[in-house]
Order: sequence, then C-alpha cells, then structure tokens
Amino acid sequence: MTKEKIEEIRQDFPILEEKIYNKPLIYFDNGATTQKPRCVVEKIEFSYYHQNSNIHRGVHYLSQKATEAHEAARSKVARFLGASKREEIIFTRGTTEAINLVAFSFGEAFCKAGDEVIISVMEHHSNIVPWQMLCERKGMTLRVIPMNEKGELKLDVLQTLMNERTKIISVTHVSNVLGTINPVKEIIRMAHEKNIPVLIDGAQAVPHIHVDVQDLDADFYVFSGHKIYAPTGIGVLYGKEKWLNAIPPYQGGGEMIQTVTFEKTTYNELPFKFEAGTPDYIGSAALAQALEYVEGIGIQNIAEYEHELTKYAELRLKEIEGMRFFGTSNEKSAVVSFLVGNIHPYDIGMLLDKLGIAVRTGHHCAQPLSDALGIPGTVRASFAFYNTKEEIDLFIEALKRVVMMLN
Ligand code: PLP
Repeated sequence: MTKEKIEEIRQDFPILEEKIYNKPLIYFDNGATTQKPRCVVEKIEFSYYHQNSNIHRGVHYLSQKATEAHEAARSKVARFLGASKREEIIFTRGTTEAINLVAFSFGEAFCKAGDEVIISVMEHHSNIVPWQMLCERKGMTLRVIPMNEKGELKLDVLQTLMNERTKIISVTHVSNVLGTINPVKEIIRMAHEKNIPVLIDGAQAVPHIHVDVQDLDADFYVFSGHKIYAPTGIGVLYGKEKWLNAIPPYQGGGEMIQTVTFEKTTYNELPFKFEAGTPDYIGSAALAQALEYVEGIGIQNIAEYEHELTKYAELRLKEIEGMRFFGTSNEKSAVVSFLVGNIHPYDIGMLLDKLGIAVRTGHHCAQPLSDALGIPGTVRASFAFYNTKEEIDLFIEALKRVVMMLN
C-alpha cells in the first residue's frame, strides 16, 4: 500500500490524532485491541439512533430492522470466514466466551474421566483455562504441544500425543506473543486422520491474514470483534453444523428455547440454541461494518503491508545492543516480542509510555509460555495497517533513549 493510502486510512481513525503527555500517540498495542474507524463508531450511533429495538421477538418495524441487521451481520461473518452456512455462526462476547462455550458443551457431550485434551505451549490463558476447568470437572488430562527455539510447534511431538483418549485439540492460529502463524491446516489434517476435532483460536489471525474455515477444515474457529476494528463485547464462534447440533446449549434463557414448561424445555435450532438472552445486536452490526471496512482495504494488502512493517521493525531493532527476539519463525504475523539485556520489560514499557508510545509488556496472558522461555515476559509491539515506518523510526529512537537510561 502506498504512503498516500496509509495517510488516507489514518484519517479514518480519529484516535491516532491524540496527544499522549503532549506527544503524538504511537499505538503499537494492536494485539491487545485495535482502534476503531469512524464508520464503525458511526454504525453504533446509527443503530442506537435509528433502529434500536430488541430483536427476533418483535412484530413492529424497529424490531424487524434490528433483527435484519443482526442476521445480516451473521451472513457477513459467514462469508468472511468462508463458512458454508450462516447457521454455523454463533455470536459470543468474544474469543474467551466462544472457547468456554465449546469446552463446556463439547465436554458435556463427548468427554469422560480418563480422556485427554491437547493444546499448545503458546496458548493464551483463554485457550488454557477453560480446558483445565473441563479436565478438573471430568477427571481428564491436558497435554501440551511443545515448540522449538524459533517458536514453532513440534508437529512430530503432536503426532505422539494423539491417541484414542484424545477428544479434542485446541490451538491458536497465530501466537499473540511470538507472532508465529501455526500450520493449522496441517494440524487439522493430522487430527482428522485420527478422527479428532480441532478448535482454532483465530483471535490474532483474522485481523491479519486470510482465513477460510472450510479450506482449513476447522471444526470450530473463534475470534473477537475488538481485535478486528469492531467494538468490544462481540465475538464469533464458528462451528461445523454437525458439531453444533451434537453438543448441548451452553447457557439457558430467552431466545435459545423452542418450548418451555415447568416439566421440560426444548431447545431452539441453530444458531439460536447458543444465543441465550438478548444478544449484542448493536455490536454484531458494528462487527459487520468493521469486516466490510477490512475487506475494503483488502486482507491481502493488509497482510503484505503489515509484513513489511514487521520486517522493518525487526531490522531496526537489531541496531540495539543486547536485543533478544522471541518468535523468529519464517511464518510470522505483525508482532515483535523482545527483551534488551537484563532490563525488565515493564521498565521499558513505562518509559516508552512517557514518550507517547503504547506497547504491551509482561506475559501477555500466556504465562506458561513465558515460563517455558524462562523469562518474566517481553516487550511486545504489535502492528496494524494504520501504523507507519515513520512511527517505527520514532519508536526506535525512543527505545534507544530508554535503554540508555535504564542501563
Ligand atoms: N486468544 C488469543 C490468541 C488472544 O490474543 C486473545 C487476546 O489477547 C484471546 C484469545 C482472548 O480474547 P478476548 O479477551 O477478546 O476474549
């Protein structure tokens, strides 16, 4: 993408004009959450001002309009992920809720004492803890795929971990710490050879690379709206129809029922069976708007530009003495995690903040990964398509100053 194009894109994000301690904001914390373009915020405003009413139940105009928007958003997400049916898209609060849903409902239907779940060493806590809770509830065992020194999963070990007790594998598409793009298509192929279903945590993938759930043959695929320029509070669970039909509801309440008597309740069909209560229909409409915005730029253009930014950042970071990178796979997304000498990452983050630069420090909700690396955490710069090489230059200059002070 040209410089002019990026400048044009930046105009869509008012927050990028903010001054932090009187310095221009440089926002490199996109892995945690992305900033919102005007069209997404305006969509929220439009929805509340012009078509706000509770959905599905109403016969009146506004309720029908709101319902149409929510269901159109579902179709939009289905197309975005390459799902074969819109009923395979369940709206959740985010990645975390989507994984908890599967861990609970799949666990209820298919798991028993002695069974096993496989995750990987580089998972976010939200793809660890729900499985641990399932294991505790049922008396099961959690197995972990290790990685090599570049931050790539060891698929030969995965091969040995899978057995007749393995009920499900849940791995991240892209590591939020290392940036590694895992070979999830290959992992799914290996698992399916043994009839094991796979959940892919796409929280860090969908904002950066093209995803097609049918091409991957994923059984479940989850992501959060707020990491792809949509508001907080809305996310997605994609599930193959056969699995969603085979597992029980996660929560009970309005919307998810067909009939209720005090003796027995029958459940609604997909996708409503998994959407108990009033869904975030304003959020779903805004998510659809965000996906449209991303498609307008082009996910391939985004992937290429962010790759260029990441390579440039890595190149310039190497100028700093004592630089140690974490995550050096050839297949990497827009994340650079590093430490400098023995300086604590928190100190670097604090001082960069005073210079207007937002990076994230610590274990990034992947504490077992930090433990495996034997470090207290990292400094993480994560990029979006509105970032520029000029911002990276300012970041490097600032980092050099910070390192000098801390040394
Ligand atoms: N999985 C990964 C890889 C993440 O990076 C994150 C958030 O950082 C999550 C899951 C959790 O997402 P959320 O907090 O939006 O549910």
